[in-house]
Amino acid sequence: MSSSLFRRLVAAAIALLVVTLVSLNYALAPVDPDIRALVLEITVAAALAAAAVALLVSRTLTARVRRLKRAAEGLLGPEAQPGVLTDPGDDLGSLERSLAGVSQELRGLVSNLRFESARREAILSGMAEGVLAVDPDLKVTFCNQALLHATGFRGRYEGVGLLQVVRDPALYELIRSVRASGEPGKLRFHLFANVPRTFEAQATPLAMPAGRGVIAIFHDITDLERLEQVRKDFVANVSHELRTPLAGIIGYSDTLLDGALDDTENRRKFVEIIRANAVRLGSIAADLLVLSELESGADQETETVSVRGVLEDGLLTVEGEARDRGVRLIREDMQDLYVAGSRLRLEQAFLNLLANAIKFNRPDGEVRVRVTLNDDARVAIMVADTGVGIPSQDLPRIFERFYRVDKARSRQVGGTGLGLSIVRHVIERMNGTVTVESQVGKGTTFQVLLPAVTKP
Ligand code: ADP
Repeated sequence: MSSSLFRRLVAAAIALLVVTLVSLNYALAPVDPDIRALVLEITVAAALAAAAVALLVSRTLTARVRRLKRAAEGLLGPEAQPGVLTDPGDDLGSLERSLAGVSQELRGLVSNLRFESARREAILSGMAEGVLAVDPDLKVTFCNQALLHATGFRGRYEGVGLLQVVRDPALYELIRSVRASGEPGKLRFHLFANVPRTFEAQATPLAMPAGRGVIAIFHDITDLERLEQVRKDFVANVSHELRTPLAGIIGYSDTLLDGALDDTENRRKFVEIIRANAVRLGSIAADLLVLSELESGADQETETVSVRGVLEDGLLTVEGEARDRGVRLIREDMQDLYVAGSRLRLEQAFLNLLANAIKFNRPDGEVRVRVTLNDDARVAIMVADTGVGIPSQDLPRIFERFYRVDKARSRQVGGTGLGLSIVRHVIERMNGTVTVESQVGKGTTFQVLLPAVTKP
């Protein structure tokens, strides 16, 4: 209870006592003075006793009201405690009780809200996508780690202008128009902060106490865009590769139909060209099929494969061609080692390496093969030739699909440009690696490393 109220109560009690005494004195005038004095004394004593009781009660009340006030003031504070109930029966007690209940509910609500907001913040901060929120003045209110990293922005972002964080006028324009129209919008744009990357931003209006803000999610689509490009290039390359033999087939068929069928001297040659082109189409189709199977993961069963056995089979297959081209096949150290994978695929990979080593060799050249065990329990397979070699600027690209150093020569020797790409796929699917070293005019060495397994 406030002291001014207390003072007013005391003043009122004194005034009441004085009025009572004066009235009594006046009313008891005709009574015996002794009796009158006794009545007045009793009245004063009763008034003093009542004042003492009132003082005591008011002190207790004051203390309880103060406690209630403190409890109400600290209702949302972290250390808010429910009031201690002194007299649950009276009105103040029920007020204390309901305040304690409200306080408990409020604390539950606040802690739920805190948890929820911390959870949201953690989700937004940890998202791989960038997240940015701006207020109605286009000042940044939130920006997660992914976006800060992509933009290269450092320091406090709260309250900073949008353009300072993401320096892209088109994005600024998008967010400004979403804020103005209330309609969501999308944009693809590039950021050159750390490494150049492409983003797709999706901006949505965000209701805020101060008006309409905007929240934007940024998807990093750099890899997707690159894949899209690879796919487009691949389709273009396939069409291009198919067009050449198809043009040959159509051209020579027309020539035959236009009268060359009667040209006894040349007609056989024309049919042979048509056949060669058809074979070429078949090779491209077969290689594309293998590649697509490898990429889709639809693979042959895994088995324990003898590397020496597979290489011997491969050498046997290319022996005739090597002889025709005057290339010697030399078996160096051929250890009996095993790897886990598809025998058919491995055979294909080694066959491609051996065929290249013969195709791109010189007359009287050599192809050396070796199977050894490395210190780190990996089988090392070497296929080395004494051929034309590969210029150093082409080396990083020869495993790409359809990449050929010398297109004319590759076509002439029946290459599809897909052989090494298949090799790399097969070896990588077996957890191995394939590397190449080459010197123009001297020769090329391919080395395949595969994890060794024990002999079955
Ligand atoms: P291709 O069907 O043309 O042989 P590959 O994918 O097998 O296709 O090889 C790609 C290109 O790499 C070849 O066209 C050739 O230019 C080069 N190349 C591959 N192996 C050798 C090698 N042993 N010696 C020289 N060049 C090679």
